[in-house]
Amino acid sequence: MKSPFVYTPGPTSVRENVRLARAMETTNPDLDLEFYDFYKETCEKFGEFLHTENEVRILSGEGILGLEAACASLTEKGDRVLVIDNGIFGEGFGDFVTMYGGEAVYYRSDRKREIPVEELKAFLEKDSDFKYATIVHCDTPSGVLNNLAEICPLLKSKGILTVVDSVAAMGGVELKVDEWNIDIALGGSQKCLSAPAGLTFLSISKDAFNAMKARKTPIASYYCNLLIWEHYYENKWFPYTMPISDIMGLREALDNIMKEGLDNVIARHKKIAEATRKAIESAGLKLYIEQGHSDTVTVFELPEEVHEEELKGYLMDKYNILIAGSFDYLKGKVIRIGHMGENANLEKLIYVLMALQKSLEYLGFNPKVDMCESFLEYMK
Ligand SMILES: *Cc1c(COP(=O)(O)O)cnc(C)c1O
Repeated sequence: MKSPFVYTPGPTSVRENVRLARAMETTNPDLDLEFYDFYKETCEKFGEFLHTENEVRILSGEGILGLEAACASLTEKGDRVLVIDNGIFGEGFGDFVTMYGGEAVYYRSDRKREIPVEELKAFLEKDSDFKYATIVHCDTPSGVLNNLAEICPLLKSKGILTVVDSVAAMGGVELKVDEWNIDIALGGSQKCLSAPAGLTFLSISKDAFNAMKARKTPIASYYCNLLIWEHYYENKWFPYTMPISDIMGLREALDNIMKEGLDNVIARHKKIAEATRKAIESAGLKLYIEQGHSDTVTVFELPEEVHEEELKGYLMDKYNILIAGSFDYLKGKVIRIGHMGENANLEKLIYVLMALQKSLEYLGFNPKVDMCESFLEYMK
């Protein structure tokens, strides 16, 4: 298999030390007590990363497992759940709610903008009888970023637990779990963490654990049951054999971030993202999102003369760059540049923008400026 230059909004490229960590000799993670310490320490580091004192668990399974585990563990038949929807992942949460017997009530808003807090507040004044609410931090297909700092405390003040999908945001933009009152915040290994796909991690508050314990019916899943893990360390018992090599790689990836300094990492994303958006706009291309841009991905509308498959194909054939279109209602309409994690990087973006410029020109769209130059101008 050849190695393309991966510039999608996840999976991202994986640094060598993370790849090597996955090749280290391993032990039996069920029986070797040292592994319990390694796992616990890694979870505690995630706590630091997420600014939380809450318990963290790393589960074997890609990010979607985190979404399903949160819904499976909290939802009982007939529970009303508020599904906050301004994007494809936001709406998709509702499927997990109904799958486990809950009643999904959608709060929908303009998909080109972040959730309007004042309007959500007005909605909650009329109806706030929800066990929990789901919301996506960065809804990746469109690149919209929601203001969790205001939304989660608002929900919590109404007695509503919050489940946040921050798969495509954490490690690229600010996320303060305790300060923002987030009951379950979940992420995946293959986005800003820049480890290979295969793991999800969740911080779980006491209130969330209590809600799980207060259920009248048992959680209708084993793999998605977050309660089983509550006392894994004291009991020296994992519900299944942990994917030790994946976790060793993830730990290295997390250490990479913490060594650079979380604030520095977030500042790097912000600068790269702003410069990318400015380069795209000054080229005469249109950003899909009007307000509330995530610093982890830039989504722009395809100009009329350029077709998604042609552009992606040309970028791959000529420059070995793997870039993403989008899906569902956005299919064929937009292109996404994923500048998250290891890919929020100056040298790499110069190459991507150069190739994008040449490819657009080849396909009949002439950018108004040189996007690389414009990008560098803003990076000064
Ligand atoms: C990537 C991502 C996930 C995980 O989903 P996959 O489609 O399996 O990669 C979940 N939520 C968000 C917001 C994501 O960006």
